[in-house]
Amino acid sequence: MGFKRQISSSRRSFLASAGTLALMSGSSPVMAASASAGSWQGGTRQANLQPFDLADVALGEGPFLHAQRMTEAYLMSLEPDRLLHNFRVNAGLEPKAPVYGGWESEETWADIHCHGHTLGHYLSACSLAYRSTGNAEFRRRIDYIAGELAACQNASNSGLVCAFPSGAALVAAHLRGEPITGVPWYTLHKVLAGLRDAAVLADSAMSRSVLLRFADWVVVATRPLSDAEFETMLETEHGGMSEVLVDLFEMTGNADYRTTAERFAQKAILRPLAEGRDNLDGLHANTQIPKIIGYQRVWEVTGKPEYRDAAQFFWRTVALTRAFATGGHGDVEHFFPMANFADHVFSAKASETCCQHNMLKLTRALFMEDPQATYADYYERTLFNGILASQDPDSGMATYFQGARPGYMKLYHTPEDSFRCCTGTGMENHVKYRDSIYFHGDDSLYVNLFVPSSVKWRAKDAVLTQVTRFPEEPRTTLHWTLDRPVDGALNLRHPRWSDDAVVLVNGEEAARSHAPGSYVEIRRMWQSGDTVELQLKMEVAVETAPAAPDIVAFTYGPLVLAGALGRDGLAPGSDIVVNERKFGEYNDTPFTPPRIIGEPDTLAARMTAGPGPLEFTATAADGGTIKMIPYHRIAHQRYATYWPVQHTAS
Ligand SMILES: [Zn+2]
Repeated sequence: MGFKRQISSSRRSFLASAGTLALMSGSSPVMAASASAGSWQGGTRQANLQPFDLADVALGEGPFLHAQRMTEAYLMSLEPDRLLHNFRVNAGLEPKAPVYGGWESEETWADIHCHGHTLGHYLSACSLAYRSTGNAEFRRRIDYIAGELAACQNASNSGLVCAFPSGAALVAAHLRGEPITGVPWYTLHKVLAGLRDAAVLADSAMSRSVLLRFADWVVVATRPLSDAEFETMLETEHGGMSEVLVDLFEMTGNADYRTTAERFAQKAILRPLAEGRDNLDGLHANTQIPKIIGYQRVWEVTGKPEYRDAAQFFWRTVALTRAFATGGHGDVEHFFPMANFADHVFSAKASETCCQHNMLKLTRALFMEDPQATYADYYERTLFNGILASQDPDSGMATYFQGARPGYMKLYHTPEDSFRCCTGTGMENHVKYRDSIYFHGDDSLYVNLFVPSSVKWRAKDAVLTQVTRFPEEPRTTLHWTLDRPVDGALNLRHPRWSDDAVVLVNGEEAARSHAPGSYVEIRRMWQSGDTVELQLKMEVAVETAPAAPDIVAFTYGPLVLAGALGRDGLAPGSDIVVNERKFGEYNDTPFTPPRIIGEPDTLAARMTAGPGPLEFTATAADGGTIKMIPYHRIAHQRYATYWPVQHTAS
């Protein structure tokens, strides 16, 4: 039985019904059952989960919906013709509007060759926003851009569309193995991914046609390279080329895409990870994560276990041993030796936001294959403290680094003069909050996130509505609205941060869990109107890194608490900045943060709650007080998330 045929046909039918490939990165049950490579123990994996279509999830009022609206407004403010400027120039066509600034055109960033990456992110973001809201203006813009890119392909008589100043010559030199500056495949991947999202999420036929012509160009252009030449080329950052090519294989059944996807899976990084060796110190973090997402995707369509082993090991080492309390990692974009934690934790250039964006993609893919609460716990922590925290709630602009330099402030990009990598991933982050709240199996529904929302489970003619003020209160309530009784399991996450979890069904205790980091399964014949309440416990806790036990972060449930240190010396608007390379210099007025004295294990108990929800007060060494609030609510003011603690006796 042709493995490929079985996968592709099942995936096509899935695509037709769900339209969520762009958010997928997960395996289907049929795929798991058909893999005969000896990689799955015990045959069919019952545990495989599916995401819900964004269109089947509604968000209630709250910070996530607010963040989505801010990004929708930003997307509407951008002009497609300006994003298309250099694509048209390279195709010999007259541009219709001036080019944007920052990474899109300015000399400062010319050497990285990211020109055009924003158009790809923009297509992805508009596709996510369209799927989430149904607003036809997003669809109109997607089709317009796709039509323009088709015109570029026709004018240049090539599938390649790019915005590099030297046009196709940069890519050609890279393919010939000549020294280049910049990251052409990274940039091209964004455009390919944007077209994929437009084709899948917005059903844009023009996007699909441009995408396939572009992808065929990739296959033909890379085919002459020997394996050694290919591997040398992959020493340069290449984004998620494997991921998008696997998606193309699943969209079309064309095995050329799968072959090329595996060639883009860099073996030098794969091998040590597959053997459980962490050689990540010193490597550029965000270069690696999309490769690992690609490994997971290659595993899903080839059944070759080294790809799965590498993806799982990478996730464990980065999420569980290299992450800050916020779920971010790295300093100046690179992994550092955790033995040197104290030398890096206070950097203004730690925790690049793209890394969190991509870690969540990887986490989601691994979770769907193996639904463990550990993955969902990390997702929640990073979603609040990395993603939601990254947006300026007033302007909608997004962070690059989210460093923990005491007394520093969050810095955001400008609307039209920055266009960094994190501007692009930032466009996508806030229009996909509908995703990953819920997942489902054949007869099970997982509630991973406590967010006011509702989900339509079409296979069961069921709607589950979640009402909650979480994290302001440690509980959530779920209501079933059913056409007919549903026999199934509701899997409620018992987060690692809550000692206990109690579940009430229609007001009566149905389950009690003392196992943080697990799921409470409630299986029964559900009736319309049934109500389920999950009660959790949130407490202030202290988190430290093993190599630096005297540097602490405070948490409350999944939230990192930050000292809100005021605005002294900071001019209004000075946190919207053009150049991410100058982080560490902006708003650099001298500032001495308050100090904390005490034994690390007693500090949490000494924090007092109030006056408002999620507000706390800590005592500083000088007897003053420090107001502590959730890190995701910090904006336009100085903050501290990590504190060097002075012992009482010293
Ligand atoms: Zn970035």
